[in-house]
Amino acid sequence: MKLNIKDKFNKELPADPVLENSRRQVSEACFSYVTPKQTASPRLLHASPEMLENLGLLKGDAHSQDFLNVFTGNQVLPDTKPYAMCYGGHQFGNWAGQLGDGRAINLCEVEHQNKNWALQLKGAGETPYSRNADGLAVLRSSIREYLCSEAMFHLGVPTTRALSLALSGDQVLRDVMYDGNSAYEKGAIVCRTAESFLRFGNYQIFAARHDDKNLKVLVDYTIKHHFSHLGTPSKDTYIAFFKEVSNRTLNMIIHWQRVGFVHGVMNTDNMSILGLTIDYGPYGWLEGFDFGWTPNTTDRQHKRYRYGNQPNIGLWNLLQLANAIYPLIEEAEPLEAILNQYKTDFERKSFEMMKAKLGLCQDVDNDKYLIKDLEENLQLVETDMTIFFRKLSDFKDEETSFQVLKDAFYDFENMPNDVKEKWKMWFLQYEVRLQHESEVHVERKKKMNYVNPKYVLRNYMAQLAIDDADKGNYELIDELFQMLKKPYDEQPEYEKWFAKRPEWARHKVGCSMLSCSS
Ligand code: AMP
Ligand code: MG
Repeated sequence: MKLNIKDKFNKELPADPVLENSRRQVSEACFSYVTPKQTASPRLLHASPEMLENLGLLKGDAHSQDFLNVFTGNQVLPDTKPYAMCYGGHQFGNWAGQLGDGRAINLCEVEHQNKNWALQLKGAGETPYSRNADGLAVLRSSIREYLCSEAMFHLGVPTTRALSLALSGDQVLRDVMYDGNSAYEKGAIVCRTAESFLRFGNYQIFAARHDDKNLKVLVDYTIKHHFSHLGTPSKDTYIAFFKEVSNRTLNMIIHWQRVGFVHGVMNTDNMSILGLTIDYGPYGWLEGFDFGWTPNTTDRQHKRYRYGNQPNIGLWNLLQLANAIYPLIEEAEPLEAILNQYKTDFERKSFEMMKAKLGLCQDVDNDKYLIKDLEENLQLVETDMTIFFRKLSDFKDEETSFQVLKDAFYDFENMPNDVKEKWKMWFLQYEVRLQHESEVHVERKKKMNYVNPKYVLRNYMAQLAIDDADKGNYELIDELFQMLKKPYDEQPEYEKWFAKRPEWARHKVGCSMLSCSS
């Protein structure tokens, strides 16, 4: 196994001088050195062929003992010094102080084909940032992260990636619903990858500690390695940097809205500075279209991170980042202008995204109302988001509309008459509106199918793979992995996965309800 290791983060940024792996506050440092934990009997369950290639590895490398040992933390690569990053964050709207990589350990950075890849193990043991937890991860959450991050990549959503999924062989104690029912689960380790794992919280922690010196060091480092096109650091560069982070964050969230992804825990420590979807925890996919839905039971009361609120939370989080880097700029006005621009851009981009989902290219008055009415209708009775938009590409006219779309409704037979009337009106509006389009139907269908996926990782699908894996059967992980590589293709062999959530999954833990326990 040959990796082109080019460490930067732990070579150029200030390290915690304390080498002892004890839980503590770490100041004036970006990271602490740690060694991953030895595991009882590691076993590789899956490796991503695309990620192997991205790293310059061969398919066969994944079967080597070195690969298994390195990506489960049992062997440290020569000339590398693994570390955990120090960051803080706002959790559910409140400043939480130091958080940090409590169960993530960065192994190294690899350069291949002009790309930088940080390699990080999730669940490889305690770090100085583990607070009151064990630094480990269980199989169910690891399967969810592994499958979803690769699925998101293939959907065209900016995201961290995953290289491998392995069992540690250790048992991990978890109280899944935080109700006093703890049980042992299989421990697992995912090796995840990204250009960088820097989060808003990495900057916030220095700002909170009034450590402007290290704040500048970290921002300058970020610009040098990840935003180098912005030029040498200066006040103007910092503003341009914030502008780009804002744009990237918005772009990512618009994609989430497009595919019906709900992150679940948009705390500022879970916001990537590169605008990547990061930290797959109690995330979920919309089944019924519902702006008020969140999968995260920890957020059940206020639903702060509900589907329809994700764009607002993106803005709120950017405001926290603006506050954090303010000491380097000392002018509020340009930062405020960028935040205001986010709002305008959101309106425009969200409108364009919805138009694309409807297959509308031309500019026509009243499209705003067409979209607003649609979003209202979609929430009248339970309507599957993925099936609705996918099948909409077969829409011809109002008369045949229900034939084409009835599968999207959970209880079409019992749809109340007033709801049916509202849908008929909308279908008629849509039929009339399509007459303004110059494209023929086949062309429109092709374009629509490229923004409306046929296959997403529905919550119950991941749960089925998890239930099987708990019993020692890992085949479904691979089946879903293969299918999710081509989410926009018809793939008739996987047709059974193009279906509404089965009723047994409606209230099942892990399907519609997830906690942060992982
Ligand atoms: P999350 O909500 O998963 O982003 O986690 C918030 C913070 O808790 C992060 O600093 C994590 O590193 C930490 N954390 C979560 N689970 C564990 C665990 N099992 N052991 C140690 N730290 C954890
Ligand atoms: Mg996190």
